Amino acid sequence: MAIPQCLICRLAVISHSVDDKYNMDPQVSPNPTFVTHLECSKTKEHYEAGQIHGLSKAGAPLLVRYDLAALSQSLQKKHLEARSPDLWRYREMLPVGNPENIVSLGETMTPLLPSSRLGGKNVFIKDEGRLPTGSFKARGLCMAVSMAKELGISRLAIPTNGNAGAAMAAYARRAGMEAFVFCPDDTPETNMREIALQGAKVWGVNGLITDCGKIVRNGTEPVGWFDVSTLKEPYRIEGKKTMGLELAEQFNWQLPDVIFYPTGGGTGLIGMVKAFDELEQIGWIDGHRPRMVAVQASGCAPIVKAFESGADHAEFWKDAHTVAAGIRVPAAIGDFLILQGIRETGGFATAVDDGAIDEARRKAAELEGILLCPEGAATYAAYLKELKSGRVTTQESAVLFNCATGLKYPMPAVNDTLDHHKPVDYSLLV
Ligand SMILES: *Cc1c(COP(=O)(O)O)cnc(C)c1O
Repeated sequence: MAIPQCLICRLAVISHSVDDKYNMDPQVSPNPTFVTHLECSKTKEHYEAGQIHGLSKAGAPLLVRYDLAALSQSLQKKHLEARSPDLWRYREMLPVGNPENIVSLGETMTPLLPSSRLGGKNVFIKDEGRLPTGSFKARGLCMAVSMAKELGISRLAIPTNGNAGAAMAAYARRAGMEAFVFCPDDTPETNMREIALQGAKVWGVNGLITDCGKIVRNGTEPVGWFDVSTLKEPYRIEGKKTMGLELAEQFNWQLPDVIFYPTGGGTGLIGMVKAFDELEQIGWIDGHRPRMVAVQASGCAPIVKAFESGADHAEFWKDAHTVAAGIRVPAAIGDFLILQGIRETGGFATAVDDGAIDEARRKAAELEGILLCPEGAATYAAYLKELKSGRVTTQESAVLFNCATGLKYPMPAVNDTLDHHKPVDYSLLV
């Protein structure tokens, strides 16, 4: 059933059902998956698609592989023009087989904001705060939950520093699934409350995200939930991959020179590298790659330490602390993939302290009217730091990821008041 394309459906992301979107252009088959198999990111061993998988036997993340030759026959750039501006426009490059399994809250494309006052005419902020639940975690979790639905799973659990739990809860409830969420007990209050309000069971745990991860892992057997931890299931990375697809399209298929990515578990960085590889294989981009820069906080910088010491894996970071909760991840299961992605693209890893993060947040809001989250502010702080160090230049086009809406995070208090019963001295106001 092909529905006529109208102006409205291009403007309003969810004005038609996703099913309709899949059928909007008749060139593309209604059952569009090109997935061939899953592959262990360490041993390259193959795993069957269409089955429930966690980590590989080697304990490493599984990556989804596609028949890219067939895909490139079926999908052309011009097909995108007629599609809704959301992440499902890249559906052939995504794992969901049956469009009826798509769980959507309107995953809109996010703007790429030129921000020349932040350091040069080539700086762009990719503002991911516009996504459902206010963070880019929606990209990963809409894919994981859709795939869980496709595979018949109905009970999900996740360890989280906040935003992943919020996205998981929202999509799980949208799909009518049960959601169990475990956060460090100092997770931003807004996160814990939105998770609870979105119908999940949520606990504050007196430890870090790695301790929450242990609780989820050990509960798999007795409770029978499915563990949707970062990279422990194969599909969140496919959702995060759409950041790379979107960037490529927004830059008219010529990628920028450098990408600053706030790195916790690293799903987005790994996902974008995967996106660029796949786009090159289908002939949509050339071999030019952005240098990938992993940004961490100096209070929790395991990837920076590993990068600088030349190691392939990162050591557990003790006493992790930073205001940027989303990147307070002392150990990442995909550490070797993050390090590979950085090194293969000629990028690097860098850390900024909380003072620089707060200052960068204030500056971006003041100079450009863009309210960053602390993790997004960390990318701007890192950009400024590396302009100074000379590792990047203002000649290079740079993308800074604002990963969540700044509105979720505490802001400095406002103390100025006016008494409307008294005459106002306007000369004091300007
Ligand atoms: C999860 C998160 C990050 C880190 O993203 P990864 O892809 O897991 O490295 C950064 N910032 C915010 C706000 C987050 O929620």
